[in-house]
Amino acid sequence: MIRKMLVANRGEIALRVLRALKELGLAGVAVFSEADENCLHLEAAAERVLIGPPPSAKSYLNVEAILDAARQTGADALHPGYGYLAENAAFAEACQGAGLVFIGPGPEALSLAGDKARAKRIVAEAGVPVVPSSPGGVVDPDGARRAAALIGYPVMIKASAGGGGRGIRVCRDESGLIEEFMVAKSEARAAFGDDELYLEKYIEGPRHIEFQVLADAHGRTIHLGERECTIQRRYQKLIEEAPSPHLTPALRSAMGEAAVAAARAMGYQNAGTVEFLVDADEKFYFIELNARIQVEHPVTELVLGLDLVKEQIRLADGGRLEYGFDDLEPRGWAIECRINAEDPDRFFAPSPGTVDLYRPPGGRGVRLDTHLYQGYELPIYYDSLLAKLIAFDLTRREAIAVMKRALGEFGIGPLKTTIPLHRRIMDDPAFVAGEFTTDFIKRFVPDDDDEDDE
Ligand code: ADP
Ligand code: ADP
Ligand code: MG
Repeated sequence: MIRKMLVANRGEIALRVLRALKELGLAGVAVFSEADENCLHLEAAAERVLIGPPPSAKSYLNVEAILDAARQTGADALHPGYGYLAENAAFAEACQGAGLVFIGPGPEALSLAGDKARAKRIVAEAGVPVVPSSPGGVVDPDGARRAAALIGYPVMIKASAGGGGRGIRVCRDESGLIEEFMVAKSEARAAFGDDELYLEKYIEGPRHIEFQVLADAHGRTIHLGERECTIQRRYQKLIEEAPSPHLTPALRSAMGEAAVAAARAMGYQNAGTVEFLVDADEKFYFIELNARIQVEHPVTELVLGLDLVKEQIRLADGGRLEYGFDDLEPRGWAIECRINAEDPDRFFAPSPGTVDLYRPPGGRGVRLDTHLYQGYELPIYYDSLLAKLIAFDLTRREAIAVMKRALGEFGIGPLKTTIPLHRRIMDDPAFVAGEFTTDFIKRFVPDDDDEDDE
């Protein structure tokens, strides 16, 4: 029986979870760093605990401080949000050891999902198509050369422990392989503290389509339909929607079944996301399972009319899934734009500062998940995500119209945001037609070389 929950995160997702706790009548505990004394998620909590100095490594990634905060406040459960410790198996285990219900899968499933090469092997054994790749991790240039020759060029080099689009390189022939391999290796070491890489066949012009899954502790696993996440920059999502304008009912049901099979094969519990690439021939391939609540979960909530965070809590508390996708009757169309503090006219340079102007959009069909308010001073230490603007209506065309209207109302200044870019995309004929692949954004930011890191 969960009574009090600590939310081990900050910003919009901490606020999202704390709001759900309020609605459930559960006590919420917020944690914060010294840079976040004025962060809005603190307002939504019954109790707040300072966990350390501004750098994430000393606060939001500080396991001891977070467990201390839980002990101090008598919390009996912990929600990790996304990013930070959300997919850290050792942390989930430490929570269990401290008597906290961890809102997510168990440590074994987390460690499997975090080892992307091993996850693909297990999912492939269950009969789900996976992107052709090296059988396991690749640690040296010779191994990379052999793996690439086996897979066939072009190849993609990825970090086994990767996430957030980092540590990914594309390589079209053998000449550049070793150089890219060494760069990816040092990026992976810097970003994830683990430099194991793996190689994959590079799928040309794919779409990224992912399935939300839920699994209870009593053996039932279901999917909740798909999210279209093809509009990306540097392998990070910018716009997501549900449903996908691309899926036929047949492809949806085949992919939904594959998603459930993948989650089952991995022994997965709670809410997760099975990511696929779909190629030009409508073949789909598993790429990874994200073992947490996803940034873009609201689009699924809007078309299904449910609350995924409450479902996560219910499932972690031993609740049963008493419905399947076919019982849910999805309705309408939802589109999410990620509003980042980045200047799209200056190669997405971070745009810090104080939010002197804040005029949020509203009205029918608009959901805004954000921790912004007038006068908020953005800490320089954290992610650039400021707000998720979600538009909902009965058809895709109408949802786009709602989004355009809401983006037009949205005033944030003087800092630069991705709002103007989203407005241009909403007017783009290919976007409106639903015809795009993951390189769509290149037309909007032509000189933005994704092989070249900031
Ligand atoms: P989603 O897959 O939920 O759409 P992202 O992949 O963009 O979202 O990641 C969600 C958040 O978590 C982002 O803020 C991202 O920077 C962060 N993140 C994701 N994976 C990792 C990781 N392995 N290490 C650190 N941060 C991560
Ligand atoms: P992360 O853990 O950083 O989210 P993913 O493996 O999910 O990494 O890949 C991120 C993005 O990179 C995908 O959404 C897709 O756009 C692109 N991508 C990944 N694998 C491939 C591939 N094999 N071929 C082409 N594009 C890919
Ligand atoms: Mg991914």
